[in-house]
Amino acid sequence: MTGEKPYIVAGPCSVESREQLDEVVQALSRVPHVCVVRCGVWKPRTHPGVFEGLGEEALRWVAELKGRYAGLRFGCEVARAEHVEQALRYGMEVLWIGARTTANPFMVQEVAEAMRGSAATVMVKNAPSPDVQLWLGAVERLRQVGISDIMAVHRGFDLFKNGGYRNNPLWEVPIELRRLAPELPMLCDPSHIAGCRGPIATLSQMALNLGFDGLMIEVHPHPDKALTDAGQQITPKELEQLLERLIVPQTESSVANEQLQCLREEIDMIDEQVLQLMAARLGVAGKIAQVKKQGNLAVFQPKRWEQLLQQRRFMASGLGLDPGFVEELFEKIHAESVRVQLEK
Ligand code: PEP
Ligand code: MN
Repeated sequence: MTGEKPYIVAGPCSVESREQLDEVVQALSRVPHVCVVRCGVWKPRTHPGVFEGLGEEALRWVAELKGRYAGLRFGCEVARAEHVEQALRYGMEVLWIGARTTANPFMVQEVAEAMRGSAATVMVKNAPSPDVQLWLGAVERLRQVGISDIMAVHRGFDLFKNGGYRNNPLWEVPIELRRLAPELPMLCDPSHIAGCRGPIATLSQMALNLGFDGLMIEVHPHPDKALTDAGQQITPKELEQLLERLIVPQTESSVANEQLQCLREEIDMIDEQVLQLMAARLGVAGKIAQVKKQGNLAVFQPKRWEQLLQQRRFMASGLGLDPGFVEELFEKIHAESVRVQLEK
C-alpha cells in the first residue's frame, strides 16, 4: 500500500470454531496494516433456523487469544443491551451496530445506553435504506451517552435495483454524511457491498479515492467453507495482496493542485453556462405555460414528454454520454419545468 495508512478492520463474518479463529487471527497478525480483527459473534440472519453465531462461547475464545496479539484490537457486532454487556465483559474493544439495528432507533438507543461510560470504539453501519439522517441519528445517540470514538461504516443500501452488487454503493449517501459530519471517520465495507469476491479490490480503491479513512473486509481462512457469507470472504493472503496494491491518495500535492485549479476554473465557467441555459430554458417554459393556458391545454403532455426523452437519449449517445444519466437529468429538468408552468 502506498501513501498514508488507512484503518483496516478484517476478520471472519462469523467466528465458527476455536480452530478457525486461531488460524485467521494468526494469519491476520502478519498482514501489515490490519489493526482490528472483526469477529462476528451474533449474526442477524434473514431466515431462522440457520447458523446465528456462537455468542458467549466465541467471546470466551477471543478473550483467551487476545493476550497473544498485543498489536491487534478485537470487535464484534452488538444488537441488544445484553450483547454490549457480554462483549465488554470479555474485553472486546471495538463494537459495531449492524445495518438492521441502525434502522431501528429504539434498538440504537438501548444499545447506546448499555455502552454508557465505555471507552470502546463504536462503529455505526448505515441502515439498509439510503437515509443519511437515520445514520447520523445513530451517531448522535452514541455521542449523547458519552461515546467519543465513533466511526461510520458504509456497507451499501438494499434498493429495488442494486446495480449488480449485493448492496448498492450509492456513494452520494456517504459523501453527504461526510458533508454533514466532516469530523466523523468513515470506513467502507466492500465485502457487504459486493456480496462476492470479484469487486472487493475495485470497491476498496474507489472508497480510498473518495476519501474514506479505512476499510472493513471479511476474511476467512477457508472462505468456501464459511457458515455465513461464504461467497464474499477472502483469504488472509488475498487480503494482503489486495492491501499491497491499494494506492492511498495524497491529500496535498503542489503540482496536482496547480493543474486542478486550472481545470476547476474551466468547470466553473462551464457550470455558469449550464445555469444560464437552464434559466433560459425555464423562461421558455414560462411562455409555454401562457400559450397552454390561453389554448386551455393541460400542462403535462405525455406524448411530447415521451418524444423528448427519446430524442435526448439519442442525442446523449451521439455525444458519448450515458443515456441513463441523461434521462435522469431530464426527469429533474422536466419536473422543474412542470412546477414552473403550474405556478404561472
Ligand atoms: C456483518 O458485518 O457481518 C453484517 C451482518 O453486516 P451488515 O450489518 O452490514 O449487514
Ligand atoms: Mn457478513
